[in-house]
Amino acid sequence: MTFIKNKEDFKCEKCGHEVVGDGYTNHCSQCLWSKHVDIYPGDRLNKCGGHMEPIGVTKKGQEYTIFHKCTKCGFEKPNKANKDDSFSMIIQVIAENFK
Ligand SMILES: [Zn+2]
Ligand SMILES: [Zn+2]
Repeated sequence: MTFIKNKEDFKCEKCGHEVVGDGYTNHCSQCLWSKHVDIYPGDRLNKCGGHMEPIGVTKKGQEYTIFHKCTKCGFEKPNKANKDDSFSMIIQVIAENFK
């Protein structure tokens, strides 16, 4: 899999949080929403641009994976959670899955 390191900061269009990019950041650390901009992680070549909702979280060892679903085209994609992601938000997404 190709992973292009693309360090950039961005402002979350969902909650307005200023996300500081570390090169791998592809979702907001506060609300966990992402944006459908990649074909391969980090390439920013996807023209969809839809907002991606966090629909689920799985835990493997110490690592959390957030599943994002594009609200525009329905594309689903797993993303590794970052260490500075809001843990209460992760818990909330997990809780919503058990409703
Ligand atoms: Zn946000
Ligand atoms: Zn999309």
